Amino acid sequence: MDRLTKNVYYCPLKEGLDGILTKESPTHTIHENTRGTFDETDAVDLVGKEGLPVYSAYQKGKVVRVHKGVNKNYENLDNKEGAIYELGEENLSGNFVVIEHETSDGKKEYSFYGHLKEVNVNVGDEIGLESVIGTLGNTGWSKGPHVHHWVFRREGNTRLSLIIRLVYQGKETTYDNIKSRFSNPYN
Ligand SMILES: [Zn+2]
Repeated sequence: MDRLTKNVYYCPLKEGLDGILTKESPTHTIHENTRGTFDETDAVDLVGKEGLPVYSAYQKGKVVRVHKGVNKNYENLDNKEGAIYELGEENLSGNFVVIEHETSDGKKEYSFYGHLKEVNVNVGDEIGLESVIGTLGNTGWSKGPHVHHWVFRREGNTRLSLIIRLVYQGKETTYDNIKSRFSNPYN
């Protein structure tokens, strides 16, 4: 099965990207709860300074989910299942936004932006590439300011992670291909 996104995305940080973590991040696993299976294996952590604007990663979309009101950071919980138990799934990713995007084959992909400091959008908002959806933060289960960025599609009650195709500095690439250009601030 093709695990690449149909759409080609942009980095949600237009400036101030200091580091990229991919599969090494402990949250980037598969887990299950009563609402289904969450496959986050291809999610990326985009490291930058708190307060930076976070943009929609695609030129068109609709906000389908928003979670806000999380002011705390819970980095000291030791593992994801423990963190989910303590925080609830809702607060694990802190303040977050999910945007739905149409694909060329008439299906849908969803982009997720987690650990935001502030959220600037509401469910139902139509989004463009210039839309600032929030600011970079460190809310929820997070060990430093970053955006947890994940693109998935739905298959039944599975959210299947996709490898994000992205345009970066004018070329199509993936986050795995460009991450070595950055030092990893959390190592
Ligand atoms: Zn992450």
